[in-house]
Formats: sequence, C-alpha cells, structure tokens
Amino acid sequence: MDFAYDARTEELRASLLDFMDTHVYPAEPVFREQVSQLDNRWAWDSVSIMTELRAEARRRGLWNLFLPGEEGAGLTNLQYAPLAEITGRSGHLAPATLNCAAPDTGNMEVLAQFGTEEQRKEWLEPLLDGRIRSAFAMTEPDVASSDATNISTRIERDGDDYVLNGRKWWITGAMNPNCRIFIVMGKTDPTASRHQQQSMILVPRDTPGVEIIRGMEVFGYDDHDHGGHAEMRFTDVRVPATNLIGGEGYGFAIAQARLGPGRIHHCMRAIGVAERAIEAMCARAEERVAFGKPLSEQGVIRDWIAESRVKLEQLRLLVLKTAWLMDTVGNKGAHTEIQAIKIATPATVQWILDKAIQVHGAAGVSQDFSLAAAYAGNRTLRFADGPDEVHKNALAKNELRKHREGR
Ligand SMILES: Cc1cc2nc3c(=O)[nH]c(=O)nc-3n(C[C@H](O)[C@H](O)[C@H](O)COP(=O)(O)OP(=O)(O)OC[C@H]3O[C@@H](n4cnc5c(N)ncnc54)[C@H](O)[C@@H]3O)c2cc1C
Repeated sequence: MDFAYDARTEELRASLLDFMDTHVYPAEPVFREQVSQLDNRWAWDSVSIMTELRAEARRRGLWNLFLPGEEGAGLTNLQYAPLAEITGRSGHLAPATLNCAAPDTGNMEVLAQFGTEEQRKEWLEPLLDGRIRSAFAMTEPDVASSDATNISTRIERDGDDYVLNGRKWWITGAMNPNCRIFIVMGKTDPTASRHQQQSMILVPRDTPGVEIIRGMEVFGYDDHDHGGHAEMRFTDVRVPATNLIGGEGYGFAIAQARLGPGRIHHCMRAIGVAERAIEAMCARAEERVAFGKPLSEQGVIRDWIAESRVKLEQLRLLVLKTAWLMDTVGNKGAHTEIQAIKIATPATVQWILDKAIQVHGAAGVSQDFSLAAAYAGNRTLRFADGPDEVHKNALAKNELRKHREGR
C-alpha cells in the first residue's frame, strides 16, 4: 500500500499551495470588502478580485479539477482529494476560483454524464467556462425531503413541453442573478413504481413562472458570498420537452449518481476546514496567557489539540480510501465507504471546530475569526446531501444483511 501522492498530484498540489499563499489568502479580505460594496450582494462572482483569481487559476491549469474525463482536468478521485482539501481551507473563495464549487460541480457532472449534446452545448459549456452558475432544486418545504421519493413538484407533459408546478427551498446559489439554470427534480408519473416517478429537467432562470420568494439563513448567515439559498416557487413553468435530462423516471437514479461525488467533495473540503481550525487553535493557545501561562500549557487544551490531530488523520485516511475505491470499483462499489465518510466527517469536523472556538474564547464566535461561519457551514453538512441518520440507517441495513448472509 503506497500512501504517497503520485507525480501529477504532487505537481498540482505544489502549484495550488503556492496559489493559495500568494493569491487566495491575501484576497480573502479584498473579496469580503468588494462583495459588501455590491448593489446586489448576491452577485458575488461579479467582483473584480474573483475575475483576477479565476484568470490566474486558469493560467496555472488549476481549473475544473473536480471533473474526470476530457471535459475536465481528467483527475481521479484520489488525485482530486488532496487538492479539494486545500481549497476547503478558504471555502468561500478557493473552490469558486477554481470552478470547483458546489452546486455547480454536481450539476456539471449530471450534464456531462446524462445531458444530450444540445443540453451540454447550451449549459455545460458556459458552466465549464465559468461564465454562468447553476442550482439544483430538489428539497421542498412541505415534505420530508431526506426521502427523495416524497418530492411532490409536478412535471407534466403537455404537447412538446413540460409544465412544472411546485415549491422548493434551500436552493443553494439561486439568489445569485448569474445562476442562469436550475436542475429541478419533480414527479412526471406519480403512478409509477416508487423510484421511477421522478425526473430531472432543466429550467432557465428567466422562464415565466420561476419565482424567487426569499433567501434562507443558516444560523443567521445569509451566505450571500456563496449565492445564498433560496425558497422558490414554480407556477405553470413551461419548458420544451427536450429539457428533460436522461428521460422520464430517471430522476431518482440521477440524484443518486450526483450525490456520490458531491458527498466526497464536501468531505475533502471539510478536512481542509478542520486543518485550518487546528492551525488557528494552536496559534491562539500559544499567544494567549491565562493564570500565568499560555493556554497551550494547559493539559486539557493539549488534549484537544492531540485529539483533533488523531481524529483528522483517521478521517483523511478513510476519505482517501473511499476516493480510491470510487476510482477502482466505482461509486456503487464504494457505497458503504461514501456513507461512512458522510457520517464521520461533518461530525468530527464539528468537534474540532468546537474545540478551536473554545480555545479562542468569545473571539471564537465573533466575526473577527472564520471559525463561527465555518461551524455554521459545517453543521449543515449533517443533513445536506442526506442526514446522518439516513446514512446510518442504510449502512446498518447493509451490515446486518452481510452478517445474516454469512451466518
Ligand atoms: C445550507 C444548506 C444547503 C442546501 N442546499 C440544497 C440545494 O442546493 N438543493 C436542494 O435541493 N436541497 C438543499 N438543501 C436541503 C437538504 O438537502 C435537506 O435539508 C436534506 O435533504 C434533508 O431534508 P429535510 O430538510 O426535508 O429533512 P427531513 O426529511 O424533514 O428530515 C428531518 C430529520 O428527520 C430525521 N430522519 C429522516 N429520515 C430518517 C431516518 N430514516 N432515520 C432516522 N431519522 C431520520 C433526520 O434527523 C433528519 O435531519 C440544503 C440544506 C442546507 C441547510
């Protein structure tokens, strides 16, 4: 078993680490300042620092790293994992700078995998080029959406068109006016079998009947520098039948395919968040003196630092093993491990962030450090892309079956 990164990964890592040091970290306050000056605060990708960073990322070949195959950088999951981790250290800036930010990544994967030639030309090309953004609209306020078969938005065939009616919420990125296209999940046939009732369809933002109702807040953060999360209504929204992705009844299967890579990307970036938190925790513990000695000399603080390191190393190994499995036996074969990292990562990173915040005292929950925002963002990962309990339930079911068969 070789734990070293291969030559291509090392080369990209070196370039990315340098890019982070020389461009991304210095740009963090500039980005915040420029976004705060916008007339429309959701249009975060229109600020000049973002344009400059993206040009530099492209120049360095750090573009679309998430996407395997010819359309993207052609990396394996195992090659992309350590790079995504690095971008997680500056989660509001680095992934978008490299055109590797959710939900665009998942949407591009769907279009690359299941889109027709026309759909790819019209929507995938500008997305790969970073000219437009996109959103994925599945979750609904009126039904428990962790069970995707509950989704009740109707997509009804009418001649050469489909007509959509329904309400969605938590649609990430949708507040950004440059989010030009929505992939909407709804029911085309409520009488079909449970997993074949749903379909996915492309809905351009400017289609009559598409309505943004409001932005949603996460612990009081509106995430405007991510494009926000919108509650939306679709009223008699008419789009050509050719906008359907992959055919009627494929929605559930496409959603499953989309979530495999999406989950591992979130986990990789979250490890970067935790690395930065440990760095901040150590720096603060050394400089802050209480009761006559630096906090770093208190046994309990050392325990948190040591535990954080141990937990994070375990997590990284599991994420890398999952990436390797996805590359070698496919997303289906790596199903249990994908569930395991989705369960373990947000909870562990939450634990580390909590300790980093505690070491910072009141400053840890303030706007002066990035820990509070990181905590809020990470906490949502315990249900976004499937709640912990749903993954545990499925994992346990598999485990029970395996042992039952072995007896
Ligand atoms: C910041 C953020 C961004 C998001 N972005 C998007 C997006 O871009 N697009 C989109 O479509 N959605 C998005 N979501 C929504 C997210 O995917 C859903 O919140 C998630 O799927 C859970 O659905 P729900 O909120 O309806 O929870 P519910 O289905 O109502 O579940 C509530 C709780 O019930 C429990 N539960 C459910 N099933 C089980 C079970 N089998 N066993 C035990 N307990 C169970 C869990 O504790 C769960 O948290 C986002 C959410 C957040 C917070």
